[in-house]
Amino acid sequence: MTTEQYDVAVLGLGGMGSAALYHLTKQGVSVCGIERFGMAHDLGSSHGTTRIIRKAYFEHPDYLPLLNRAYTLWRDLEDASGQTLFEQSGLILSGLPDSPVIQGLERCYSEHDLPHEQVSATDAQQRYPDFQFPIDHTVYIDPEAGYLHVERSIEQHITLAQNAGARVLIHEDALSWGADGDGVIVKTAHREIRANTLVICAGPWAHEILDEINIPLTIRRKVQTWFRPNANADRAESLPAFFFDMGWGTFHGVPALNDLGIKLAEHGGGEEVDDPDEVRRKVYKDDTASVERMAAEVLPGFDLEESHVSVCMYAMTPDENFIVDRHPNHENVYVAAGFSGHGYKFAPVIGETLAQLALNGATDHPIEFLRLDRPALQPNAIS
Ligand SMILES: Cc1cc2nc3c(=O)[nH]c(=O)nc-3n(C[C@H](O)[C@H](O)[C@H](O)COP(=O)(O)OP(=O)(O)OC[C@H]3O[C@@H](n4cnc5c(N)ncnc54)[C@H](O)[C@@H]3O)c2cc1C
Repeated sequence: MTTEQYDVAVLGLGGMGSAALYHLTKQGVSVCGIERFGMAHDLGSSHGTTRIIRKAYFEHPDYLPLLNRAYTLWRDLEDASGQTLFEQSGLILSGLPDSPVIQGLERCYSEHDLPHEQVSATDAQQRYPDFQFPIDHTVYIDPEAGYLHVERSIEQHITLAQNAGARVLIHEDALSWGADGDGVIVKTAHREIRANTLVICAGPWAHEILDEINIPLTIRRKVQTWFRPNANADRAESLPAFFFDMGWGTFHGVPALNDLGIKLAEHGGGEEVDDPDEVRRKVYKDDTASVERMAAEVLPGFDLEESHVSVCMYAMTPDENFIVDRHPNHENVYVAAGFSGHGYKFAPVIGETLAQLALNGATDHPIEFLRLDRPALQPNAIS
């Protein structure tokens, strides 16, 4: 058993941990990242080729300052890596005028001056004939939105950090962590890692850490499904990304990037998972019934046929806002968790925030609404 010493240790190198590792190395400190699975693996919350990025933020308008910074940092990461990570395809959002998505968007647009268009379902139908818009829907277009190449981005965060001197331990499980008077200690089967500060980005596995401090994290099993077009395949490549609240389900989709075809996933629902290590990976017919209905109703002209599925996990907080904060019992431990199915677009700004917190104990990003002690996370909160 060897002992290694660093300024900062990062536990978990998925979506958020890989970004934290990169931003810490940019500050010139010594960093060690620990990941139990492979680089950009498909067992957590950050796989499936793409993630939508948008400023049309119906969840909460307070995310906008973070999003603006994330947009800048995504382009910086593309410059640093020489890779295309962000495709600005635009995004269609469609729902009933009183649906949570449309109501949330209208709140966001009333509080922030953002480029967008609102059109009727009839106008949207003329403009985007490949989609079938329910006639009573209101449609918004976010021209700045698009999608990110998720595994490629994680690989770039880790590789650039490694090139800048970060120690990266892949396929190494953090078996325990703790803090003593001298700092923090993370133990793996091979070594003891000592650091001044620990940043924990354990994704769905953060539920154990949060349980200890009475913060509930619900893990949901989510199935991503790809559909190959039997007709109009060339048009499937150039669609905008899309988000539809159908009343009977809320769905997001990304155009065909390869021969797997168009990707669709249901945003709501999903089976609750007690132990992320035991999530059911096998996919049955029932799992894809709603996306098949969505594909048939909204994209009828492509004659879509299921080509691939992949199981992923959402880590949900009670109010569906993230947690980015200092651990209440350890002043040199920070936790970023509960990204509630909409976190990846923020990865670089969360990474930058965690680097600032780990090194200065404070951040200039407005993350008060993501604190652990907010009322919605307290045990007696009314949901
Ligand atoms: C189907 C689906 C669609 C989504 N769509 C979007 C979208 O369109 N736009 C968007 O912005 N977001 C989206 N999200 C959400 C987004 O992908 C997640 O919020 C984000 O990727 C979560 O990153 P994370 O770092 O918290 O978790 P993860 O990426 O899972 O990272 C956690 C890491 O910690 C590691 N780990 C845990 N415990 C240990 C340990 N003891 N030792 C070592 N390593 C450990 C794990 O192996 C893992 O690599 C989607 C999520 C899913 C599942």
